[in-house]
Amino acid sequence: CGIFAYLNYQVTRTRKEIYETLVKGLLRLEYRGYDSAGKTLGLTTGNDNTICIIKTKGKVKALDEELYKKDSLDLEEKLGTHFGIAHTRWATHGEPSPVNSHPHRSDKGNEFVVIHNGIITNYKELRAYLINKGYEFESETDTEVIPKLTKYVYDNRENDGITFSTLVERVILQLEGAFALVFKSWHFPGEAVSTRRGSPLLIGVRSEQELTTDNIPIQYNSGEPGFLSALHHVHSLISPHSAIIEHTNKVLYLEDNDIAVVKAGKLSILRVKHQVGEDPVRAIMTLQ
Ligand code: GLU
Repeated sequence: CGIFAYLNYQVTRTRKEIYETLVKGLLRLEYRGYDSAGKTLGLTTGNDNTICIIKTKGKVKALDEELYKKDSLDLEEKLGTHFGIAHTRWATHGEPSPVNSHPHRSDKGNEFVVIHNGIITNYKELRAYLINKGYEFESETDTEVIPKLTKYVYDNRENDGITFSTLVERVILQLEGAFALVFKSWHFPGEAVSTRRGSPLLIGVRSEQELTTDNIPIQYNSGEPGFLSALHHVHSLISPHSAIIEHTNKVLYLEDNDIAVVKAGKLSILRVKHQVGEDPVRAIMTLQ
């Protein structure tokens, strides 16, 4: 599957322009040479306190058409700092269908949404645990336990100051299997957290300009090494992918259990340093 995440930082764009960027990102992933019949896909957009999820079954084109059928959404609406995430699915648990496609969510209010590449091998236990706690599942996927577990951990936090990355760290401690993930939540507007174990995840950054001052789309690609990019200019994403590589001058290879945080135009990677006989300590690298 493919994961595509995109940030507009302190830049105003219309919903239509944001959709176009996300759909074009997915189109680039669709051309990766595998059969598209088993794929479903979806994306989220949203600003401040709202997250909108749109899902379809079939090719990216179908998603594209679905977007413009949503008459409840004003395509000309202007959104400011904004994080969009999108996914093409290679189904492992649950048939290809709109409800099984990603993003998956914690609840009907879209409090936490997640896109996932890989397989959660202990999802049955987690699902049973969460059902016991009153959670209602919508899909047959292994993935859906992740946003629901995130909400569970969030709702049971000890203090109000929990960061998004700490939350994700606690969630992945409970997960077994392979994953590349992107998390989004309206509790943390303009922020996204990504992590991996087993499944590859790279972050490419174009960093010759200050990342804090410009428009920073970021693409997370979980498929092939060497192919992830984050670019300064939205319109660069429209270029063929050879051009994307051309525009990317830093590629960060995430290690297992690394947590990447994109917040306020700044990218931080949290990495566990294992020390024999001691608790793991996280080191933080920040790229401005
Ligand atoms: N296991 C997940 C699912 O079936 C993710 C599959 C993927 O990597 O696309 O939904």
